[in-house]
Amino acid sequence: MSKILILPGDGIGIEVTEECIKILNYFKPMFDIEFEKELFGGASIDKNGQPLTQAVLDKALESDAVLLGAVGGEKWENLEHNLKPEKGLLMLRKELETFANLRPGKVFPALLSASSLKKEIVSNTDILVIRELTGGIYFGEPRFIKKVNKKRIGGNTLVYDEDEIRRIARMAFIYAKKRKNKVTSLDKANVLEVMQLWRDVVNEVHDSEFRDVELEHLYIDNAAMQVIKRPSTFDVILAGNLFGDIISDEIAELTGSLGMLPSASIGNKAGIYEPVHGSAPDIAGKDIANPIAAIMSLAMLFKYSLNLDNISELIDTAISNTLNSGIRTKDIHNDKDEEVVSCSQMGDIILTNIDEIKSKFI
Ligand code: NAD
Repeated sequence: MSKILILPGDGIGIEVTEECIKILNYFKPMFDIEFEKELFGGASIDKNGQPLTQAVLDKALESDAVLLGAVGGEKWENLEHNLKPEKGLLMLRKELETFANLRPGKVFPALLSASSLKKEIVSNTDILVIRELTGGIYFGEPRFIKKVNKKRIGGNTLVYDEDEIRRIARMAFIYAKKRKNKVTSLDKANVLEVMQLWRDVVNEVHDSEFRDVELEHLYIDNAAMQVIKRPSTFDVILAGNLFGDIISDEIAELTGSLGMLPSASIGNKAGIYEPVHGSAPDIAGKDIANPIAAIMSLAMLFKYSLNLDNISELIDTAISNTLNSGIRTKDIHNDKDEEVVSCSQMGDIILTNIDEIKSKFI
């Protein structure tokens, strides 16, 4: 039995997860899946005075995966830091010890024109960025802004130990084996000792366990150029917290729209799957949000937490077929021949497409 906890959150988070629930209900009779919905973020603040209650956290800890919508909104913006919706998100990631952030950058053929790059360059791009999420410069000590001799100085510390590097490198190689079998590791080994250690440990993991996976090392500055010059040649990109943060946003731009970007945060406990976008208060309640990022996050959940790679591919193919037939939500509409549909209609059409091609995958 696989247990999924669904935390729709606020704003369009509620609308886009509703479309995922339609798909989960469809697969429920075929697989041993159980799921439950709970309040999170602003919705939980309104009912319980806090963004993540202990009871919901306990349920997350007992689950195999958490599917999240998005949190936040104007109503809760002026609360003290610890009571804000986003604090619930940080607490959840911390308690579930999600040390790896997975962000795919996949360009759908039907949306080639939405990218800021030329079609022939971006075509066939399908990258998975695996970013270390709990270490590196965002957490290193000491960190400070202080006055020395009347002058302000600021500092942060970029530190990784070999175990942190080893576990994220192993994850990158394991996932590359499920994909095109190539890992590109980003560092700055030419000037930073910590990054020389990064490169050494990645090489050790490769040579001891994953010799059959192609390994490439790039300095981060060169990588920033190469991903826009030859994006389709990358498969898995492995990076520390800071470099991964930057390169994943650069790759996101290749795919065109915020409504198309899924993510997963994975560790030793339940993985958290969520669209990259926020609660979009400007369009919430109008049934016009794009649910594809959330549905792609669900596809990642099937792959990485439930090991149902075939269902993940089935969902991704159904999304692709839907886009190929000219169906668009408002945010990705740019041609008069396309048909603009609502959030719930998009969910229904993707589900119909899933049902039509199911027999090829199950
Ligand atoms: P946002 O991602 O919510 O919206 C940015 C813009 O993109 C808006 O114009 C919105 O309408 C559009 N957009 C986003 N997702 C879309 C979708 N699926 N379909 C169509 N259009 C979409 O970012 P924001 O406006 O900066 O933040 C709004 C709230 O969300 C804030 O409270 C912020 O703190 C929160 N937020 C939460 C998360 C999260 O839960 N992980 C992430 C980012 C922002």
